[in-house]
Amino acid sequence: MEKQDVFDKDKTYVAHTYNRFPVAVQSGRGATAKDFAGKEYIDFGSGIGANALGFCNEEWVKAVTVQLRLVQHTSNLFYTMPNALLAERLCQITGYSKVFFGNSGAEANEGAIKLARKYGREKKGEGCNQIITLQSSFHGRTITTLAATGQDSFHQHFFPFTEGFRYVPINDCQQLSDAIDASVCGIMVELVQGEGGVTTMDKEYAQHLETLCKEKDILLIVDEVQTGIGRTGTFLCCEQYHIHPNIITLAKGLGGGLPIGAILMDEQTENVFQSGHHGSTFGGNPVVCAGGIEVLEQVYNEAFLSSVSTKAVYLEERLLTLSGVTGVSGLGLMIGVTVAEGLDARQIATQCAENGLLILTAKTKLRIMPPLNITMEEIDKGIDVLHKSRS
Ligand SMILES: *Cc1c(COP(=O)(O)O)cnc(C)c1O
Repeated sequence: MEKQDVFDKDKTYVAHTYNRFPVAVQSGRGATAKDFAGKEYIDFGSGIGANALGFCNEEWVKAVTVQLRLVQHTSNLFYTMPNALLAERLCQITGYSKVFFGNSGAEANEGAIKLARKYGREKKGEGCNQIITLQSSFHGRTITTLAATGQDSFHQHFFPFTEGFRYVPINDCQQLSDAIDASVCGIMVELVQGEGGVTTMDKEYAQHLETLCKEKDILLIVDEVQTGIGRTGTFLCCEQYHIHPNIITLAKGLGGGLPIGAILMDEQTENVFQSGHHGSTFGGNPVVCAGGIEVLEQVYNEAFLSSVSTKAVYLEERLLTLSGVTGVSGLGLMIGVTVAEGLDARQIATQCAENGLLILTAKTKLRIMPPLNITMEEIDKGIDVLHKSRS
């Protein structure tokens, strides 16, 4: 099959919900992808942060295929070893008490919202069900996680949305305090807003948030779907903020490219869900969990995590030398690139694809989230392509 055949079939048969770049990836190794014509692309997107170890990492492929030949799925009516092992590893690494596995970030957040509402209702009564989220946040594409997403552009077309969300601007302590009353059961935030434009939360604000939640017995939920699993240079982004929320949601990087989502619960929230309160047919699938265990094996390592920070510093330095780049934002290998007035990030990204670089956008910025184990040579190659794709 030629790439044009792929484009044609997609156009005819796949629902038109994505604005794809004209690249059909056939294979990949590390941070280098190949299309059907054998053309190579440096990967600065890692499938939106999912391919934490890049394309087809040897040990990861081995872990996944070994499990695939043992048993591919059992449903959650039965036990599997990878499921139990991944949960154990996640709790050991993070200090959390229990894990629930789903299949995606949206599903993890949906579960966290359910948990917070059940908690509020049981502790403070029926009226305690409101959840505060941030403006410019992104929490997923289900009706409820769209409602949680603090962007008007996502609150269209699909009425009625789930009730019970309030939005406050990031880094404004006063407006946060003003939004809290006895009906609030949870506050859900990203520490670095990814889709919303790669905006980082202030440390003081995060600590204020945690103190406020403790004082008022409100559950703090941190959406680490994008920031988690080493992306920002620590295993969890929360570590850099010195906060320990009641609930953390994970997804993207955790599966290394296979679909998984997770809700981490602390001692206060671990028993809120009881048998029958939540579930998923595929959640915590043994093949995906086997891949997840290998991701943790490689990422949860001091040398690996510090290499993420080193590469991030290097990337930012190189980016700032490019004409047309007026600023960088973000944390670790989650980088937003502001382009000069008159330049269009989407156009640049399209030009990059043409020239051999896969790169993301977030609002008006370019967004760079390479595999965490990208090599310095691949970074240099990618920067060179970006350099010649500015207009
Ligand atoms: C991507 C993302 C989600 C949604 O994850 P899906 O797996 O696409 O459902 C939720 N929250 C954040 C912060 C994300 O970046």
